[in-house]
Amino acid sequence: PARPHRNLVYPSSMAPRHKQNSSIRIMQWNILAQALGEGKDGFIRCPLDALNWEERKYLILEEILTHSPDILCLQEVDHYYDTFQPIMASLGYQGSFLAKPWSPCLDVEQNNGPDGCALFYRRSRFSLQATAHLRLSAMMLPTNQVAIVQTLSCRATGRRLCVAVTHLKARSGWERLRSVQGADLLQSLRSITSQGGPSSPEEGAGPVPLVVCGDFNAEPSEDVYRRFSSSTLRLDSAYKMLSSDGQTEPAYTSWKIRPSGESCSTLDYIWYTHDALSVDCLLDIPTEEQIGPDRLPSYHYPSDHLSLLCDLSFREGPHMLM
Ligand code: NDP
Ligand code: CA
Repeated sequence: PARPHRNLVYPSSMAPRHKQNSSIRIMQWNILAQALGEGKDGFIRCPLDALNWEERKYLILEEILTHSPDILCLQEVDHYYDTFQPIMASLGYQGSFLAKPWSPCLDVEQNNGPDGCALFYRRSRFSLQATAHLRLSAMMLPTNQVAIVQTLSCRATGRRLCVAVTHLKARSGWERLRSVQGADLLQSLRSITSQGGPSSPEEGAGPVPLVVCGDFNAEPSEDVYRRFSSSTLRLDSAYKMLSSDGQTEPAYTSWKIRPSGESCSTLDYIWYTHDALSVDCLLDIPTEEQIGPDRLPSYHYPSDHLSLLCDLSFREGPHMLM
């Protein structure tokens, strides 16, 4: 199959329109750590050749640059300092990286260092107010999972936006740990977004609007999903807006074949404060045919996870549901 062409979809409640000047384009993507893809994942239907970093990195960059997000949230980054940081900086982005304390990449021979989460924002659009590098805890004990949380200020309007990126514990049998890690992250986010500070004239009082991007490694049926959707932070998952009823997550955000079998699952999410922000459009999910019989990754798509992308706008005065 060819490189999947993906359309921007405008939810049915909205008349199709061009990207609003004021909307903020968010991309969420687990890009597949190079060391894990070559050394640990066991993607048996993907030729090793298709994982060659010198070519694969251009497929990743092509996907990012095609959509030109204002905010980019990545997981499994093990080429931050030698690739993404310098290239994204030359394109006008400011980046931040947080490695996993015991990255499984370090077990792979000839690794390029630990993998971790990265957060980039467009410097022309935002200035940085605060950064928190979090190691997620479970029952007071530190875990191997991390999050980056940044409070940004919109240069044009002075409005603030808090953005978080995380990658929760993988594998079945760890549902409870994911749930507790999610609870810990929500707790930190409550504390960070409730902190006052000077607000602009355009910005009402109240908590800072929030966007949380992540590979949650959890289907929508899991406890951690329920925790996020029912939290006091009033979060909603952007990709539900792609469904006809506006209530259903996509059928998959990751599709791969390992020796243990085929795995087609919804694991990745963009959460947003639904009374302060609205979803203008979303990048659609490639069809099974577009993904192809060998699933992901492939010569045509560089990760086993699909990128998620949406445009968000601040709700304006009378429509704001606060
Ligand atoms: P996770 O279980 O969260 O998974 C780590 C990576 O493995 C993820 O990127 C995940 O991808 C991927 N993965 C998920 N399922 C599979 C699978 N079936 N086969 C292969 N890869 C898969 O890892 P942790 O952060 O909990 O770290 C665990 C690993 O870290 C250990 O296996 C060990 O190698 C290493 N470690 C080393 C320590 C040390 O002392 N050196 C200490 C602790 C851990 P995705 O999220 O896309 O599903
Ligand atoms: Ca992975």
